[in-house]
Amino acid sequence: MRYLYIAGKWTEAADGGTAQTINPFDATPLDTLAEAGTADVDAAVAAAREAFDGPWRRSTVTDRAALLAKIADLLQRDREQLAHTESLDTGKTVNEARADVDDTTAVFRYYAGVAGADAGRVVDPGRANVTSRITHEPVGVCALIAPWNYPLLQISWKLAPALAAGNTTVIKPSELTPLSTVALVGLFEEAELPPGVLNLLLGQGGTAGQALVAHPGVDLISFTGGLGTGEKIMAAAARGVRRVALELGGKNPNIVFDGTDFDTVVDNALTAAFLHSGQVCSAGARLIVQDSLHDSFVAELAARADRIRLGSGLDPQTECGPLISAAHRAKVERYVQLGLSEGADLLAGGQRPPEPNLAAGFFLRPTVFAGCHREMAVVQDEVFGPVVTVERFSTEEEAIRLGNDTAYGLAGAVWTADAGQAERVAGALRHGTVWINDYHPYLPQAEWGGFGKSGIGRELGPSGLDEYQEKKHIYHNTSPGPTHWFSG
Ligand code: NDP
Repeated sequence: MRYLYIAGKWTEAADGGTAQTINPFDATPLDTLAEAGTADVDAAVAAAREAFDGPWRRSTVTDRAALLAKIADLLQRDREQLAHTESLDTGKTVNEARADVDDTTAVFRYYAGVAGADAGRVVDPGRANVTSRITHEPVGVCALIAPWNYPLLQISWKLAPALAAGNTTVIKPSELTPLSTVALVGLFEEAELPPGVLNLLLGQGGTAGQALVAHPGVDLISFTGGLGTGEKIMAAAARGVRRVALELGGKNPNIVFDGTDFDTVVDNALTAAFLHSGQVCSAGARLIVQDSLHDSFVAELAARADRIRLGSGLDPQTECGPLISAAHRAKVERYVQLGLSEGADLLAGGQRPPEPNLAAGFFLRPTVFAGCHREMAVVQDEVFGPVVTVERFSTEEEAIRLGNDTAYGLAGAVWTADAGQAERVAGALRHGTVWINDYHPYLPQAEWGGFGKSGIGRELGPSGLDEYQEKKHIYHNTSPGPTHWFSG
């Protein structure tokens, strides 16, 4: 049984509600969870408020940086166990889960360093006998909501800067994948974080999540998830004029010019599209390939997609795990049908795998659609599964036009041997991250976020800390006297 964590105590839901989390590999139960209702949301926000108004406000940046560094150490100590948990709960391979733990560790270390160096700024007032400075202060009680695809990583992108800045927090992982977040909270308990600074709610998005974002005691909401939920959260944040940061979806162009190394580019296109079965907000799900290369490229891509080994994330032979749930697979399968009805050519996948040992899990074969064009819904909508569409182009201008033809703007890539072309295309793409001759890497010290409908605000980098800070100008007249503005 996994509990809520409120005011420094592990606790059942006030109404005794529970739910189960299951293993997407075979749909067997993994654990029972306390399921928060509105009374628990109230208690968590009240605990966060009390902690914010209490001794945590007097904690120094140095104290908080030391805490984050300690969490980084504990994450590395428990790396194998955390990776195992994350793999079971999400279905991703344990290798990828290990990389997630390492990336999470790097984020805590980064914000430990940035927080330690963040002392505000002195401003030249332009007049005598005045000092003027900008101080950075926490916003208050932050509601942090994360999705199921990178549970540990996504909550940490929020939690590390929120705590570094001195806020208190109420976090809610996805009901589908809460286990690594529960373990992370255990590490904070071990590091003796004061009660109320970090509160954990487990529960449904539509109940606990919705009550949390609507709560008037919340000062800031940071959300990563789908566009529709993001729109609801933005509307909820409008009431009371609360701060909101949104990391939403993407439909990310992966543009391939002729002339780059064939094996390298096909290999990377596979990883871009099918890592974690395509359940990645920045997945390279929309391949845009130059005419002269197109036919040989798609043939090899499809052949290699057909060879991807599906299985349990814990099996070292597995290259792709299952999708997260039956409902999510059904959504992806609807897009496969839609692609077919829109006239796309199915070159690989499109089916559940035939192996009997995979029948109970939520598997779908990696799917390649060629002959796609920009008007197709399967090209424009975020499918969030193992489905890649291929369009063709002939000129650089056309590639840029196609790459920008999306309502989203999270990430994209350009593959070319021409350095000038690489810079021109990267400069022209309206996406928050552009990779040149690579796909997927991100850095804790570099901003991450989207243009357009991919969101508002940035995580990571210095901007990731800014999201959680109020900036205060303190103007000090060291030699005050009458102004004589009014004669009386
Ligand atoms: P959802 O929007 O369904 O859920 C995200 C989180 O919000 C979950 O914790 C969910 O809880 C919760 N939630 C759902 N409804 C509400 C609500 N009304 N009020 C408050 N919280 C709510 O997204 P998914 O979990 O399906 O995640 C996939 C989406 O996330 C994709 O669109 C993907 O692109 C995007 N994403 C974006 C990333 C980025 O960096 N830009 C990174 C990763 C994912 P519960 O699951 O318990 O219902």
